[in-house]
Amino acid sequence: MSTQRQVRHVLPAQRAVEGDGFVVRRPFPVPGVELVDPFLLLDQMGPVHHGPGEAVGTPEHPHRGFETVTYLLDGELEHRDSLGNHGVLGPGDTQWMTAGRGVLHKEGPTEGFLRDGGHLHGVQLWVNLPADSKMIPPAYQDLTADAVAVSEPAPGVTVRVVAGEAFGLVGPGTTHTPITYTHLSLAEGASASSAFPTDHNVLVYPLVGSVDVGGTTLAESELGVLGPGEVAEIAGAGPDGEVAEVLVLSGRPLNEPVARYGPFVMNTRQQLIEAIEDMQAGRLGT
Ligand code: MN
Repeated sequence: MSTQRQVRHVLPAQRAVEGDGFVVRRPFPVPGVELVDPFLLLDQMGPVHHGPGEAVGTPEHPHRGFETVTYLLDGELEHRDSLGNHGVLGPGDTQWMTAGRGVLHKEGPTEGFLRDGGHLHGVQLWVNLPADSKMIPPAYQDLTADAVAVSEPAPGVTVRVVAGEAFGLVGPGTTHTPITYTHLSLAEGASASSAFPTDHNVLVYPLVGSVDVGGTTLAESELGVLGPGEVAEIAGAGPDGEVAEVLVLSGRPLNEPVARYGPFVMNTRQQLIEAIEDMQAGRLGT
């Protein structure tokens, strides 16, 4: 009999404003919870309906020392960077950006989405890079909706694995340390369970609706950090017949020092100073 992971901490998302007025729900970092190793930040964008001309993005900004993983459930987002990369994400698409030694980029609505408006819903996760990989060259993985591993193992359950091995699937994403990234859709009362390596931190975040995990209910936008065990079982908890859309993340902690300043995440204060100097000298791109 395998041991079940229980919810150990509940982190209700806080409202935060990014970029040009981009409103997000952020379960971490918040005061007292700087990271859930190896994850540095989780932002939920929407779900929101933008009227014509209302959608906003971020002005150009740098990153160094980690990865940004953007997954869209609804709407459109466009991305441009200082290396000449350009892409558009639609529903079910993931952009896995390894900032490595550094990149300057902009994220925001496409011209058509800005003009016409529409529904937007997505998440951006920041994944820390280990010390020996922080200065690797920047790289992208465009993981389109049709590349994601999908199954319907039971009535009312849809599993989509973007990276790692979980819920019986292996996702297409390549990671620098062991990580799993799953989107579950769970009808009320339907459940899915998966083993995770016992040394992983496991996070369960209902983007829409509620879930039950080991006897604890997580409401919409309440992040559950699970305690030790072998298996996590997650059940849709409505409310009112609603299908829960749930992000399930796991990762092996890096257990390394974290020095953080805005868009730079390094191991030492000296490395942060170097990052700022490199940005000011144009070495992260112009
Ligand atoms: Mn960014």
